[in-house]
Amino acid sequence: MDCLTDHNGKLDAAICAVIQLLNDGKHEWRQIRSSLDELKENHQRLTDKVCQLEDWSRKPFTKSTVKTFLDVVQRYFNGLCPCCSEKLILSDAGIRLESLETDHFKGPKWNNITEGWPICDQCHHRLTHGYLSREGWVMQAFQAFQMRVSQFTQIENGQMQLF
Ligand SMILES: [Zn+2]
Repeated sequence: MDCLTDHNGKLDAAICAVIQLLNDGKHEWRQIRSSLDELKENHQRLTDKVCQLEDWSRKPFTKSTVKTFLDVVQRYFNGLCPCCSEKLILSDAGIRLESLETDHFKGPKWNNITEGWPICDQCHHRLTHGYLSREGWVMQAFQAFQMRVSQFTQIENGQMQLF
């Protein structure tokens, strides 16, 4: 029955019009809801896929990477934390102190030699808990450390003539 052609009662027509509007609304809400459901399903599927592809677990640095890190700190940073330049992380003899912690600069799953640095426990704590940003001078300090890593490994591999 088409309500709008019912001229017998204005009230009837008005009620029908309102019901029509509500039904239209219902239809739109249903559409929005099903779109949202679809979006949710797609998001879940995508998340599952990414989790399957990527292993987000923490990967430790290899022993040889850590050794290079320590050699670089000893040779170019006088045993001081390359982040703050204030706290000692190596003894005079080049032995690691308790303050030395290895930071995954790019995130826990990235463990290449270019993706981490040995820093003091204080800096590590601040960076890990967001009291210190990884941008600005910290990023520059990290890059400076990495520059020395690259210099050190080139010398070690005999690719660079010093004199
Ligand atoms: Zn530090």
